[in-house]
Amino acid sequence: MKNKSCTKCKYIKSTVEFKPVKWNKSGIDSQCICCREDYYQNNKEKIKLRVTKWAEDNKEKRKITEKKYRDNNKEKCKSAVKLWSDSNKDRVKSVRNEYKRKNKDIIKAKDAEYRDNNRESINTKNRVLYKNNINKEKIRSLLYRGTHKKEIAARSKIYKSNNRHIATRSASKRRALKLNASPSWHETDLIEFIYRTAQYFRYMGNDVHVDHIVPLSNKIVCGLHCIDNLQILPAHKNLSKSNKFYG
Ligand SMILES: [Zn+2]
Repeated sequence: MKNKSCTKCKYIKSTVEFKPVKWNKSGIDSQCICCREDYYQNNKEKIKLRVTKWAEDNKEKRKITEKKYRDNNKEKCKSAVKLWSDSNKDRVKSVRNEYKRKNKDIIKAKDAEYRDNNRESINTKNRVLYKNNINKEKIRSLLYRGTHKKEIAARSKIYKSNNRHIATRSASKRRALKLNASPSWHETDLIEFIYRTAQYFRYMGNDVHVDHIVPLSNKIVCGLHCIDNLQILPAHKNLSKSNKFYG
């Protein structure tokens, strides 16, 4: 270990007490760490101003240097950013929200573009997610249906008018099923009475459906469209029941 004299305090000190620097031929600072620290403590404001001014005068140069540093120290920068953002969560959140608020249209356009370019993968992902959370999704769907009745009705109306063939087909399929499933002894008046009663319930603000206890269309059974097979159910129960049959 060599010794060296400090140009400021003139003491002869070990080289480990000097900072390594690039601008000196010897590769070591001319002043010792203590003298540098003293100078820094006594001139903090002056140094800060000088640094800020230099940074402002050399924006381009700084940009290039910083980019070079980031490129050469990717992992280090990443973990530093993570560390900082973890300990400044609120600040990150507010900056993010502010950005979102100011750039709503840009974000919207980007999202739409992403959706257009990745339609298939998004659909697959959603299908898997739905399958894995089927019960949760069913509850969510029921809740959504309960709180968005008007929107759903409006959307369905538009869909039906744009896809009249589908609506007609399913209506006639249902009619045919009812006809096929109606025994010759079916009680038209009684059945009509049940439908009218349900209509009255709906009029009174109760969301009910007329349900076939044994479904008309099911893989294993085919219920009849007759009075014994009809019941009035709250809409959400009927929708969750769909055409399932549990014997
Ligand atoms: Zn010194």
